Amino acid sequence: MSQTETLAGSLDTGVNMTTHRTDETMAPRQDPPRTSGGGNAQLTVLAGPTAVGKGTVAAEIRERFPDIWISVSATTRKPRHNEVHGVHYLFVSDEEFDRMIADGELLEWAVVHKAARYGTPKQPVLDKLAEGRPALLEIDLQGARQVRETMPKAQFVFLAPPSWDELVRRLVGRGTETAEERERRLETATLELAAEKEFDVTIVNASVREAADQLVKLIRSPHIPGKS
Ligand code: 5GP
Repeated sequence: MSQTETLAGSLDTGVNMTTHRTDETMAPRQDPPRTSGGGNAQLTVLAGPTAVGKGTVAAEIRERFPDIWISVSATTRKPRHNEVHGVHYLFVSDEEFDRMIADGELLEWAVVHKAARYGTPKQPVLDKLAEGRPALLEIDLQGARQVRETMPKAQFVFLAPPSWDELVRRLVGRGTETAEERERRLETATLELAAEKEFDVTIVNASVREAADQLVKLIRSPHIPGKS
């Protein structure tokens, strides 16, 4: 079984944080080569269940901490009314997404909620890390697992809801999905919650501002058990 270690007291932020020593569930972290392009900056991957607020926390960081670069994903999903191409996503056709895969342009990609494809363009991530700029990916669990294979030295942060009921409330409250889509997302969320132990650190998203502060602390000073 994984050991867990609670850091809430030592980090003094009011956000519940737990680190996981996942000896059985994660690949060894001792000696994989860094594939970041040679810079000293750290890549942080934020994942968590649907509607937990990953996008909101990322938006808060974009707003308040502009030195932290946040990857813009490509997706085949249609834009929502307030979304801007190139800011929230690169909205691409199925054909363009196929081309990006074929040309090896994506660091990872996945079909999310059985509905659309999402992927992280690779080159911008490598460029930012080589520049020494901290980089954040806000992606789903399948994508996080792929990045763990290709960039094992990245820091993997799980954003958790305060409770299941709160997660359902947030999903219903958002009002952007149909009932059928909501069902599908809750199914996915059940599986996603079970994956928490695969991550280096958990942040409980009780307050967006505090969760963002906590994540920024980790981005600037990674906390990966077993590594300095
Ligand atoms: P939404 O459609 O609500 O913007 O996002 C749906 C899900 O797709 C979220 O869980 C989000 O984290 C995930 N997602 C966004 N960008 C990427 C990406 O580049 N790769 C992967 N694997 N998932 C992504």
